Amino acid sequence: MNTREMFKRAVAGGYAIPAFNFNTMEQMQAIVQAAVETKSPVIMQVSKGARNYANAQILRYMAEGAVAYAKELGCEHPEIVLHLDHGDSFELCKDCIDMGFSSVMIDGSHLPYEENIALAKKVVDYAHQFDVTVEAELGVLAGVEDEVSAAESHYTKPEEVIDFSTRTGCDSLAISIGTSHGAHKFTPAQCTLVNGVLVPPPLAFDILHEIEKKLPGFPIVLHGSSSVPMEEVETINKFGGHLEAAIGIPEEQLREASKSAVCKINIDSDSRLAMTAAVRKHLAEHPGDFDPRQYLKPARENMKKMYIHKIVNVLGSDGKLAQC
Ligand SMILES: [Zn+2]
Repeated sequence: MNTREMFKRAVAGGYAIPAFNFNTMEQMQAIVQAAVETKSPVIMQVSKGARNYANAQILRYMAEGAVAYAKELGCEHPEIVLHLDHGDSFELCKDCIDMGFSSVMIDGSHLPYEENIALAKKVVDYAHQFDVTVEAELGVLAGVEDEVSAAESHYTKPEEVIDFSTRTGCDSLAISIGTSHGAHKFTPAQCTLVNGVLVPPPLAFDILHEIEKKLPGFPIVLHGSSSVPMEEVETINKFGGHLEAAIGIPEEQLREASKSAVCKINIDSDSRLAMTAAVRKHLAEHPGDFDPRQYLKPARENMKKMYIHKIVNVLGSDGKLAQC
């Protein structure tokens, strides 16, 4: 399904839909299991990097498999969106739409304002013929994620959002208010030390509220919203990894954002950390294991636990299926 009704209910209900990236079968299974067990709508998103890694055809059929799998797990009316994350050209978006994606993002945020509008409008005009919803972005997030990277962030300018959303016709808007891509969102120097924990600068809720005032009820999206749980980082480092100063967005801030017009929150790095932590731990404790199922099973379990935690304790989308 596309995101239209899902977002309308999320904005009205004061919760956010999880958008989890996937590249592998284990991630896909964990996402579906978590969504079914919590009765949550879910956006399964695929980046350009995921398509290069797993193959576009395979990912498309995995998403179809996800719907069938959710039904097999007992969910009669699953709400699953297959979404392109960070589409960087009209051609890529068109290819995904032609392949049956129900939602795409066109990210022209690095372009000059007018070019961003022209590109987004072109994608919207094509997508809407097939009832595919489109997310566009205004403002630039810092950080690195697959092929998306920017050294500096530029917050979204609230004075531009009405013009941008009207002229592009986009269905949702990704904004920049201090979230960031990757597992190293902030340097320790940008953080304050509170009880031995590095706390990053707070999100710019003033900008979010200004945007909400300009576009009442319009669906807002937050990218780069992993929290980088310390216990996963510690497990990785304890069992031979070397992750330095990995810092994410505190969950309380995401919980607060979920109550606003923010109706889609993107989480990718936390899944990568959960998977890597479980694999490292398993292999360190079972040096004789060499069957991938032996270490991918705990990896899948650990990701599922993380997804459920996000759905129930952070985004509040549990129990929000239109028909359970
Ligand atoms: Zn992103």
